[in-house]
Amino acid sequence: MAFEGLTTRLQSVFGKLRGKGKLSEDDVNEAMREVRLALLEADVNFKVVKDFIAKVKEKAVGAEVQESFTPGMVVVDIVHKELIELMGGTQVKLAKSNRPPTIVLMAGLQGAGKTTLTGKLAKMLQSQNHKPLLIAGDIYRPAAIKQLEVLGGQIGVPVFTLGDKVSPVEIARRGVEHAKEQGNDYVLIDTAGRLQIDEALMEEIKHIHEAVKPDEVLLVVDAMTGQEAVNVAKSFHEQLALTGVVLTKLDGDTRGGAALSVKAVTGCPIKFASTGEKIDQLEAFHPDRMASRILG
Ligand code: GDP
Repeated sequence: MAFEGLTTRLQSVFGKLRGKGKLSEDDVNEAMREVRLALLEADVNFKVVKDFIAKVKEKAVGAEVQESFTPGMVVVDIVHKELIELMGGTQVKLAKSNRPPTIVLMAGLQGAGKTTLTGKLAKMLQSQNHKPLLIAGDIYRPAAIKQLEVLGGQIGVPVFTLGDKVSPVEIARRGVEHAKEQGNDYVLIDTAGRLQIDEALMEEIKHIHEAVKPDEVLLVVDAMTGQEAVNVAKSFHEQLALTGVVLTKLDGDTRGGAALSVKAVTGCPIKFASTGEKIDQLEAFHPDRMASRILG
């Protein structure tokens, strides 16, 4: 994770605050002005920043300072807690249906890392003793089916495909039937991504949604694209009722804007973070750990 810019900025603000025995209102205002700029520079959504600063100020004014703490430390602690809240508070797990298989529909724009993520998630589930099945529902990108088959082959997870001549809705439906017959307890459906959101893409994934009634709809977004990722999440959520977001390419994200805004803007929890191209570079997203990393 590489939000160095934000971390350095916040550390400098907090370094000044921590040592202060007494904090005037001006001190707090000045610190919050700097935090605000740091967050905006990190490409956090401006409304999210505004609300965040207002909340921190409100809490800072009413905060009690215990003997062993300086007022500055109290403010830092408030910022830390609010950062955790901003990213969703607690970790939210992948859905688990009590009538298996649990059906997970993967959505996202082309290049976001959806197919890679599907493989990673299958590997993670397998290591937790689940029996996942991958469904190759992206029939438009010529290499997508092959890519999924290669991934499945690497980790020993079966891939259901009907080639590229059958509609993705039918593939998804028959894939789920296949999973039931084979006793797979998780089904991960890879779907087509376009370079930008378009109606045909939305309509198709809605039809898949209606056909298989997924327990989980995960949107995969490229964290490196910052606010663009947040806008993509917003549009998808309006049309598809997402149940979770996965941030990919956090290893290359130098700013952190998507991680810090997407939950606040969409209301959808961030469930996983992908931090590299290798199959095991996937972690459950923990808001508290992420906040600690950001604060350095
Ligand atoms: P899709 O079009 O959404 O299915 O995207 P792919 O899964 O094919 O991924 C697009 C590119 O991003 C590939 O080169 C992946 O190796 C790369 N990629 C995916 N996830 C990550 C990640 O977390 N970090 C990095 N650095 N690269 C990633």
